[in-house]
Amino acid sequence: MTELKAAVAEIAEQFAVSQEKLQQGVDLFIELADRGLASDEDVHGLPMIPTYVNTIPTGSERGIYLAADLGGTNFRVCSVTLAGDHTFKLVQSKNPIPVDLMSGSGEELFSYLASKVASFVTEHHEAKETDEKSKFKLGFTFSFPVTQSSLNSGTLLRWTKGFDIPDLVGKDIVSVFQGQLDKQNVPVDVVALANDTVGTLLSRAYSSGAVAGGKQGDTLIGAIFGTGTNGAYPEDIDNIKKLPADVVKSLKAKGVTQMVVNTEWGSFDNKLQVLPNSKYDVAVDALTSNKGYHMFEKRVSGMFLGEILRQILIDFHQKGLILRQYPTFDKLPHRLRTPWELDSEVLSLMEIDDSSSLKATELTLKQNLRLPTTEEERLAIQDLTRAISKRAAYLAAIPLAGILVKTGAFEKGVHKEIDVGVDGSVVEFYPGFRAMMRDALALTQIGDKGERRLHINIAKDGSGVGAALCALDGA
Ligand code: ADP
Ligand code: MG
Repeated sequence: MTELKAAVAEIAEQFAVSQEKLQQGVDLFIELADRGLASDEDVHGLPMIPTYVNTIPTGSERGIYLAADLGGTNFRVCSVTLAGDHTFKLVQSKNPIPVDLMSGSGEELFSYLASKVASFVTEHHEAKETDEKSKFKLGFTFSFPVTQSSLNSGTLLRWTKGFDIPDLVGKDIVSVFQGQLDKQNVPVDVVALANDTVGTLLSRAYSSGAVAGGKQGDTLIGAIFGTGTNGAYPEDIDNIKKLPADVVKSLKAKGVTQMVVNTEWGSFDNKLQVLPNSKYDVAVDALTSNKGYHMFEKRVSGMFLGEILRQILIDFHQKGLILRQYPTFDKLPHRLRTPWELDSEVLSLMEIDDSSSLKATELTLKQNLRLPTTEEERLAIQDLTRAISKRAAYLAAIPLAGILVKTGAFEKGVHKEIDVGVDGSVVEFYPGFRAMMRDALALTQIGDKGERRLHINIAKDGSGVGAALCALDGA
């Protein structure tokens, strides 16, 4: 074996996730989830954020609901017409957010957002009489850190993604938005603050029913594997010990027994009790602004897979194992020297390249990194890619199995089948990601029997439909 081959084999071995590790991971996930449900004070527990969403759709819901989504760069408005038979129609508009509004005043930003909702409603829907009853209900996906104490309120903790509007920090975002909508006489009520993971769960629950065994309540988990990773599931209110007693009392008076919990599993095992921690993981973490946090996400999601490979390639170059035509680091192609330049989409192309002497990979690396390679190097890079993606997909099984075991999902009926809604480019487009995740699920405590009873399906238009479905709960 050449020195290069030996080094690649060593990494493949180091990156392999054993059955024992998977099962330890599941046990730890359950422990940290319980701690997070009990209290927010335990910084090592999972966040387990109560969402105040209590209704999982069955697919029979009808009506027109609006959704608005303020992400990093665009403000999207959509309307979802639920037909009551698991299908829906979706109309949407996308509006770039003017850069100056990202650091102006709260009033300027939200007056702009309200005006976009107004023009959407005018364009796509007959004007409604503006009495309270006939207003459109809107679910608002606001992808910044907020604390919620009810479905339709949330206090902004801090800005991220380049936004900086100090006067909104500490304010209830929903009432600021509603204030501007009212000022412009837009017939819209913001009834829910939504989250993309919760939306994925609700959207899949509404659409499922066509799958084997699909009936009300069978969609148990919404999971995202995209830039980041996260998941949500309905938990018994009695188990969410950190909910204030008066909240529990009033929910129970209404007959509510469950609430969707946003796990924020990206921060699972920040203390690295079970997660693998290669020197490449350490190097990737050091490049991030939230060092030591989101450790699970940094091994699993799309933002990081390419960077892990880039770290390995640079290490191999330094050891003289590859790319020997470049005498020093400084002489390497610029893109290979630059953090985050290697996109996980490139890995997805190399993963399944079966062309002779990996010609497709050769082209991909030339186009994306301006990097010429030999066949031996490409074979090594492909094996490294497969080690990274396999580790990610295996680790991805841990929170899924953790929730299935914790909720006793399979024991709640004879021949019980469970549906999981997923969203995100990695789970949707990375070749083999879902299959590898299933292989790992069979190795966890749910066993192959549980794995066979699990349906993993893409939640179509998860964020838009999901936010609209959150509005169902808003009375
Ligand atoms: P977001 O998470 O912002 O909602 P996506 O779900 O599209 O968006 O995820 C984007 C992430 O997925 C990026 O990190 C990107 O590198 C990665 N990605 C995009 N396409 C692919 C692909 N074909 N295979 C693997 N990863 C991909
Ligand atoms: Mg997304």
